[in-house]
Formats: sequence, C-alpha cells, structure tokens
Amino acid sequence: MRILAPLKDLKMNLNSQNKESKLAINGGTPVRKTLLPYGRQSINQTDLDQVCRTLQSDWLTQGPEIEKFEKSVAQFVGVKYAVAYSSGTSALHGAYFAAGLKAGEEVLLAPITFAATGNAALYLGATPIFCDIEPDTGNIDVKTVEKKISKKTKILVGIDYSGQPCDADELGAIAKKHNLVFIVDAAHSLGGTYKGKPAGSLADMSILSFHPVKSMTTGEGGMVLTNDSKYYDRLLTFRSHGIEKRSDKLVNTDEYQGAWYHEMQDLGFNYRMTDIQAALGISQLKRLPDFITRRREIASEYRKRFGTIDGIELLAEKDFAESAYHLFPILITKEPLAQYRKLFFDALRAENIGVQVHYIPVYRHPFYQDKVSKSPSNCPESDRFYAREISLPIFPSMSSTDINDVVTALDKVSQGLLK
Ligand SMILES: *Cc1c(COP(=O)(O)O)cnc(C)c1O
Repeated sequence: MRILAPLKDLKMNLNSQNKESKLAINGGTPVRKTLLPYGRQSINQTDLDQVCRTLQSDWLTQGPEIEKFEKSVAQFVGVKYAVAYSSGTSALHGAYFAAGLKAGEEVLLAPITFAATGNAALYLGATPIFCDIEPDTGNIDVKTVEKKISKKTKILVGIDYSGQPCDADELGAIAKKHNLVFIVDAAHSLGGTYKGKPAGSLADMSILSFHPVKSMTTGEGGMVLTNDSKYYDRLLTFRSHGIEKRSDKLVNTDEYQGAWYHEMQDLGFNYRMTDIQAALGISQLKRLPDFITRRREIASEYRKRFGTIDGIELLAEKDFAESAYHLFPILITKEPLAQYRKLFFDALRAENIGVQVHYIPVYRHPFYQDKVSKSPSNCPESDRFYAREISLPIFPSMSSTDINDVVTALDKVSQGLLK
C-alpha cells in the first residue's frame, strides 16, 4: 500500500481542541472507560442448563443432541439435511470435499472473507481464484465471475459478507450454466433472508459457523446445509474419518461380517461436534430470532444517527436482502483512504470502541503470495474496500448506552480528524 504522508503530520494539528472534544489518542478523555468489543456472545441461564444437563448425561459426544441440533437448524433454514461440524472451517473443508473437489481444480470466491474460505480449497490441493467485489456491499461482483471460469473450475463460492446474502439467483444461474457446484459461505448470515428465503437455503450447499461472534454460538462449531442426499452422505462420512457404518452403504460384503463392521471409504477427519456444544446450539437457536431482531435494531439506529457524520459511508442494503448484521462496516471516504482508515481506527480504539477490520484480502496474506499465486489477483475494488473498511461493534446484548458511545465516539473522531 502506498504511503503518502507520515501519519504524525496528520495528527499534529489536533492539539488545539478543548478537553472534552480532545481525542483520547491525543491525551483527551476517552468516550468510554472500558473497551466495547465488536462482537460478543449472549449466554443465558437456559443455555447453561442445557449444557449442564448434557454434561451429566451418558453422551458427551456422538450422542442424541447432535441429530436434534441438525434437525432444528435444517427446519429453521428450510433444507432437508444438516451436518454439524467442529467449526465453520471444517464445514467448508467438508463441503468442498462433498462437491468432489480434486487437486489441481479451482474454486472461485471473493477475497473479502476470512482466510478459511480459501484455505479449505488448499487443504484439498485445489487453487482459490479470486473474483472482485461490489464496492457497496462487499459481496462478490457477479459480473466478474464468468471471466475467471476455466476448464479447471469446480466450485463457485458466494460469501454473505457482513450478514447480507449474496445474489444467489444470479450466482446459481452462472454455476448451473458452467456445471459448477454452488456453495454459499453463510457464516455471517444465519437469520438473514434473500428474496424472503432464509440465508443458508440458497445454494447446493451452505456452510455456517457458530464461533462466539457469529449469529449464534456453540463455542466452536459449524454446519453444512444441503437438499442433496449424495452430498449429505459424503458430508457425514468425511466428518468421521471417512468411515461408513450403515449396512446398506458398505462396499465389502461378507456373510460373516457382524454388527462391529464398518469401513473407511474415504480419507476423512475427526471433525465432529460434541453433544455438549450441540445442546448449547439447540438452546441458542431458539433465541436466534431475537438476536437478529436486536442486531437489526442496532443497525437501523446507527443508520439514522450516522447521517450527519462526515468522512464515512455505509454499505447499501439491497432490496432483495435482509441482512443478519453480523458486522456493521463503515467505509472511510477521506483520501488518502488507507491513512485515514488507520487514523479513524486508532482514534476509535483509543476512545475504547473495539473496532475491527474485515477483511485483509485473502491474496494479501504472505502464505498466499508465496505459495498460492505470485501473480496479482487484479481485484481493485477489494483492495480499495480493504483500505477504507472499519467494523463497528454490533451484538445483541449491546445497551442503548453502548450504542450512544459508538455514535458519540465516531462523531468526535470524525470532527477531530477532518476539521
Ligand atoms: C467465521 C468464518 C469462517 C470460519 O468459521 P470458524 O467457525 O471460525 O472456523 C469462515 N468464513 C467466514 C466468512 C467467517 O466469517
């Protein structure tokens, strides 16, 4: 990234402010005494009771809670099959495996995502190929996709960035036309909708994450959703060493084979979720609609109150989408973008607002530059998005005081830095 002027020069003229408006980064009093994180889980007594009940049961793992959890998520999202995994990352690995991804093949995805969306292709010896994003949503730009399809392309991945579903109809049509498997990384969007349909129900397979900052949590955890029984079978065995136990699916048959018999048909992993986690998941799922309502309330409050703040832009909400608001990104408009983003970021952190950046484009990580592709990915909108993005705190248990603090701090920082 270009360096245009040292940051300290931009900070220097800020010392003439009175005490109250003096930025904390310049020695003023911070808006908050303690750090407000950008995301946080919400665990109540019922959640705790369910976990304790499971801990005292006969099964800590591979028991009845997993299937119950899978059924309830499948029902919530409106798909036939759900397979719980140990994380969103292992769910991605499972989904790419189930799609039949082989070494040397290619996976198309946008670079504004967590590295795992690309890494799971590398686990199988395949190559992630990056398509640029729409600047106003952070989601894959449908127009860039077909140019990047080659004979080796096997999977097209849409990422529901910040909780707003990607354009699944358009992406699904491209996938169909080119005979690709369409997968949505819905780690951000559980509880959101696309054209009135639940996020997670819109692709050949969709993956979820239950990391504590996501829509709902199981500690660590993930899931793959699908309507296709062939994918379902492969997802089940891959999660557990590639081992098949169901007698009607066995390859070897022998009349002296007994009930002990099982066989390893693929090279799978131990990617199982525990029953303890599934019990927490079942309880959290019941609370999910309230979580999403609260996230959307906070977002709408932010949208109302940020209108008068200079130097920032908000993402567009598409007519077809209702975001689950996993993130609330703002985009810095003041040039030079990368410098002002760093100033806003550092100044907000000093005010004790726990901002984050989502994401460093995956191809910018040294591993990708050294080991995946030395040639540039040519995604100018992704680079520009990265240079100007900051994620503000948003999570269901935020109080109205917390929301006020974010608005006050952002206003203070904007005025302090831009005048
Ligand atoms: C969180 C996340 C993942 C990975 O999920 P884990 O449960 O942390 O492994 C994958 N993709 C995206 C877009 C995510 O936000």
